[in-house]
Amino acid sequence: MSRRIWLSPSHLSGQEKKYIYDAFDANWIAPLGPNVGEFENSLQQYIAKEKYCTALNSGTSAIHLALILAGVSKGDTVLCQSFTFCASANPILYVGAKPVFVDSERDTWNMCPQLLEKAIQERLALGKKPKAMIAVNGYGMPYKVDEIQALSEKYEIPIIEDAAGALGSSVNKQKCGSFGDYGVISFNGNKIITTSSGGVLICKDKETQQKAIFLGTQAKDNEVHYQHSELGYNYRMTNIIAGIGRGQLAVLDERVHARRANFEFYKRELAHISEIQFLEEPVGFFSNRWLTCMLTPSFEMREQIRLALESENIESRPLWKPMHQQPLFSKYESYTNGVSEELFKRGLCLPSGSNLTNAELLRIVNCIKNTFE
Ligand SMILES: *Cc1c(COP(=O)(O)O)cnc(C)c1O
Repeated sequence: MSRRIWLSPSHLSGQEKKYIYDAFDANWIAPLGPNVGEFENSLQQYIAKEKYCTALNSGTSAIHLALILAGVSKGDTVLCQSFTFCASANPILYVGAKPVFVDSERDTWNMCPQLLEKAIQERLALGKKPKAMIAVNGYGMPYKVDEIQALSEKYEIPIIEDAAGALGSSVNKQKCGSFGDYGVISFNGNKIITTSSGGVLICKDKETQQKAIFLGTQAKDNEVHYQHSELGYNYRMTNIIAGIGRGQLAVLDERVHARRANFEFYKRELAHISEIQFLEEPVGFFSNRWLTCMLTPSFEMREQIRLALESENIESRPLWKPMHQQPLFSKYESYTNGVSEELFKRGLCLPSGSNLTNAELLRIVNCIKNTFE
């Protein structure tokens, strides 16, 4: 059996160890230290110089803190893109709020602005103004930032931008993670760069960042002894982990380039199969192509291809099952149009690692071609 091809494995630069050794040499194993500050500074330089980055232990923690900072609490309503990974929505339940899910449009597969406005207007008519909205840059493709931003301003509802998988993506050269009132990026093991586990919360001003750090380090009051007036969390990134991040950030643009090249390869090699479709970038949009996603003609074909790949020891995965169809979330309200349900039925994520070899890419496309013959 040929070596297994994974969906999105980690890809080290070789520079990570240096920063980790620095931390060991300085005996800076205790949580915070120079790697954390340097990692945050570099992220800020890369994403948005005027914003404030706080390194955390996961993207999920960053979404949780963003909700708290946006003032979301028990009984509140939060609008959330339905076509996403559960970590976009779970923190809404952590704070005791209620998600209202919004389906996607076909140009980016992300939150549909028309449905979002309908959802907002109906909530307002019920006298329940949503406290926040979570828009996702799914699989690295930016959402319709102008339209969603306009609604956020019109109705004065803050945006939490889930850019977990979209580090390196942009719209008209502005980087993802910088569009929302709060931005979230993940460095989980399967993302475009990784710290094994980690995330960053991006805030608009220094006060908000200070509050995020306070909440993320157990909310200790300004006393010499341990005194706590607010509920805190242990969410900060450690100095060791941030060392991995520094080594990874050094090669981010190369990783984006490699993932985009994977996408182009699949598109080119499968172009003659008219039943297969890929998501194109709208004008001005730039996706890091974290995962290459392919639409097959039907659920049956999707499964046939997935199983054929699996039999050749190649990992692939159906696109996200929308949140409004998840057993955990199906009891909450949703505004649907059939788009995310269709994407889930027909869509498949293909191996997308930045370390895929040409021979591996050929193995994958040959297997797909064979299932259409
Ligand atoms: C990975 C991911 C997250 C969660 O990030 P973690 O760092 O794994 O907690 C959230 N949202 C989306 C869309 C993701 O892909």
